[in-house]
Amino acid sequence: MHEVPVKPEVVPLPRVPAGEARNLVGKTRAQLRELLIEAGTPERQAGMRVGQVWQWIYQKGVRDFALMTNLAKDYRAMLAERFTIELPEVVTRQVSQDGTRKYLMRIAGGHEVETVYIPEQDRGTLCISSQVGCTLTCSFCHTGTQKLVRNLTPGEIVGQIMVARDDLGEWPEPGRAPKNETRLLSNIVLMGMGEPLYNFEAVRDAMQIAMDGEGISLSRRRITLSTSGVVPKIARTAEEIGCLLAVSFHATTDAVRDRLVPINRKWNIETLLEALRSYPKLSNSERITFEYVMLDGVNDSDEDARRLVRLIQRIPAKINLIPFNEWPGAPYRRSPQGRIRAFADIIYKAGYASPIRTPRGEDIMAACGQLKSATERGRKSRRDIAGEAGLSGR
Ligand code: SAH
Ligand code: SF4
Repeated sequence: MHEVPVKPEVVPLPRVPAGEARNLVGKTRAQLRELLIEAGTPERQAGMRVGQVWQWIYQKGVRDFALMTNLAKDYRAMLAERFTIELPEVVTRQVSQDGTRKYLMRIAGGHEVETVYIPEQDRGTLCISSQVGCTLTCSFCHTGTQKLVRNLTPGEIVGQIMVARDDLGEWPEPGRAPKNETRLLSNIVLMGMGEPLYNFEAVRDAMQIAMDGEGISLSRRRITLSTSGVVPKIARTAEEIGCLLAVSFHATTDAVRDRLVPINRKWNIETLLEALRSYPKLSNSERITFEYVMLDGVNDSDEDARRLVRLIQRIPAKINLIPFNEWPGAPYRRSPQGRIRAFADIIYKAGYASPIRTPRGEDIMAACGQLKSATERGRKSRRDIAGEAGLSGR
């Protein structure tokens, strides 16, 4: 097997999968317009046609051009000849005892990604993937032990949402769409496999469709993008997506963060905090979520909690404590419950919300950091890991 070291900043371009050019799912409005014009749609009609096709696909969940009844018959036939409406294929669907659903989806090239639906009392959250594997090698993350295979296309990212809506039977009649609060799928978190900010454009285009009023129509406040700390892309996230931001913080000293989240060697804690402080859309209602995985004896002391509070001073923040989810061969243990509570307490007393995330879907390996598709067996070599951590093969 060839081992090709991949540096974090060198993001392999998404290889456009065969058939992707014809697939209308995931095309931006501008791209769709262009395609319809190329196919012979008069320019003055193109805007209207985009709106019509777009609504059939994203609001009504239609997959067959023949059913697009507000378009002329021969126009529908022309669309069917040139284009497709394709979604990832569901390989398996597992339902946990707690109602969490995990989908294994197959995408072009035979690759597989996982998507998790988490029902809660006041919301239904879909956790979606942005890459097959990940170039980064966070030492507590199962996905991090898997090689990056490729970036997902916008169609594959938005397709995960559409597949889940199919499964939940949530394609409301237009004009009678339920309010966000009562939707089964009301929130999206980009917390599945991959580092979303290393696939920025595709994630942005997909989220724009998710937020579009004629598309999936979710408010930007109901989308949370989680990054391990790709500093140069944080400002662009605010400007071009405008969603909520979560950051995988996980440590309070550079020495420990270097070990847990190796991207820290490139952009350290202070550099990251600086980018977060100027996240332009910050406001009280747009707090940054600091994710903090609780690892027994590694990052979970009272001293860590106090340092964390000092570090995030003046950043509107909420700290989400994630009990470590174990996976086969993991080099860490979950902090004891009492320790997690003591840690949460220090943060709470300092004035920050500090919810402890309840692991969901553990029985089907759907919890945070447990995702890893079984088909991608390639493991990273030591050289890859060193290269990715910016250690140039040391
Ligand atoms: N790559 C992005 C998003 C995916 S990971 C990122 O790193 O932010 C989503 C969250 O799950 C991150 O905070 C990640 O650090 C956390 N996570 C990864 N592995 C975990 C594990 N085994 N137990 C608990 N949380 C984990
Ligand atoms: Fe990649 Fe996120 Fe896992 Fe780190 S925690 S290896 S960035 S998916």
